[in-house]
This record gives sequence, structure tokens and C-alpha cells, in this order.
Amino acid sequence: MTNKTRPVRVEFHGKTIEIGGGAVAVIAGPCSIESREHLSETARGVKDLGTCFLRGGIYKMRTQADSFQGLGTNAFGFIKEVKKEVGLPLVSEITDPRQLSDFADAVEMFQVGSRNMYNYELLKELGTTKKPVLLKRAFAATVDEWIKAADYVIKGGNENVILCERGIRTFEPTTRNTMDLNSVAYLKAHTSFPVIVDPSHGTGRPELIGPLSLAAVAVGADGLIIEVHPRPREALSDAHQALSFAQFGEIMGNVKKVAAALGRELVK
Ligand code: PEP
Ligand code: MN
Repeated sequence: MTNKTRPVRVEFHGKTIEIGGGAVAVIAGPCSIESREHLSETARGVKDLGTCFLRGGIYKMRTQADSFQGLGTNAFGFIKEVKKEVGLPLVSEITDPRQLSDFADAVEMFQVGSRNMYNYELLKELGTTKKPVLLKRAFAATVDEWIKAADYVIKGGNENVILCERGIRTFEPTTRNTMDLNSVAYLKAHTSFPVIVDPSHGTGRPELIGPLSLAAVAVGADGLIIEVHPRPREALSDAHQALSFAQFGEIMGNVKKVAAALGRELVK
């Protein structure tokens, strides 16, 4: 019954990073990019611990209008240099089709955030590019609605879609969201999308990110996306769920062990 996953490949400075080809891809980095130094320090830290892809928000979809909204256009000047220096590609959330030209050199993968999964005009626009799209599940979307949202990108001409389970809103307030790992098992069995799990937003609690990362790999996820900050308490967004390098390193060690038990490696 298991469907064959169609891997998505990213070319970066002569290297090919494959997501969905069997190995576990770990994407890590800050919730928001805060400065050149902050991005560089975080990128080096997560790379040393085995990450193959960097994350970092440029435009942030914040619930409160007076919360930090991301560096926006001020980030584009240094992103390319930092990525080259450190040797990691970047995934970042695009919130408006008007950002497309600025994003062209800045990212190797577009993230569509939970709040924009239903933004069909944005999805159609991303369909006109060839760059991979990490499509997060809206926090109240059914799996069927999520797959149909992915079809907008594919019908536009871009088949490079990766689905990202980031937890759904339920009656349970103990965790920020409820990590729906059923969806991961379902998608792996019935679709050919690579699937990434985001235990940072899925739990909102640093002490739960490790256990849920291991569960995600065990259930068949093609990778993880995790928020890490050099000084978590100082993070300008999502400080409550940011992991330190030490916490992230411990999780990476355990992720490798669970992956190895299943005959899988980490994407290098
Ligand atoms: C994020 O990845 O920082 C983010 C805002 O995630 P989501 O869209 O899943 O809430
Ligand atoms: Mn975040």
C-alpha cells in the first residue's frame, strides 16, 4: 500500500540535497532572522550539529501587530553571503507574491506558512517557479484540504512540493498545537509528497521537541524542521520554544539512532 515518495532535490553550490529519498533531512535555524551576525552564528552552530538546510523567517506572520515582524527587505543584503560562507541553503516564508523577486537569490526553498495555506493566489504564483515549496498545514485544515492546496502549486507547473505537518488546533491547551502524526503516516501511505514534521510549532514546548522528533522519524517523516537560537531567551519571536545548541545537539544524536534503527541516514 505504501506509495513511492517522489524526492525533491535542491542544488546549492554544486551540491545536491535530496528530501524524500530515504535519508532524514534536518532543517534548523531561528524562527526569525534577527541580524547578519545572528544568522551567521546560528547557521554555523546548526551546521556543526548535522543540519543540511537552514531555516529563518524574513517576513513573520505575527498574531499581534506590534510584535517583531521580521527584518523584511533589510535582510536581503546579507543572506546570500552568509549562506555561502556557512554552506547551507535557506528556506524562508514568503507571505506575498510581491516578495518573489527579492526571494529569488535569497532562498533555495519557499515556505508557505500555516496562515497562508489557503492563499491560493500565492500558491498559483509559486507554481510558476521551479523552486521547492514547503507547504505547511493550516492549523485547522483537513488533510484533504492540504493536499488540494498543494495541487494549486503543481497545476501551476511546479511539482516540487514538500508537505509540512506543524500541528493542528484542538481542544487541548497544554501544548501550542496537537502534533498530528496520523497525517504523516497517511501521507506516506497514500501520496508521493515528501513530508517534513515541525515539532517546534507542533508542541510549542522545548522539552517535547526531542520526543516528537523521534516519533516523527519513526512514523516515516522525510525530515524535521526545528527552531534553534544561540540564546533562546533572547529570541525576537517564539522564544518559548527555541532550542539552544546543546538541546538541539542532544536531539540530533537521538534522531540519528532512531534513523539508524530503521536503516536510514541523515541527509548531509
Ligand atoms: C514558522 O515556521 O516560523 C511559522 C510561523 O510557522 P507556522 O506557519 O507553521 O505557524
Ligand atoms: Mn516560529
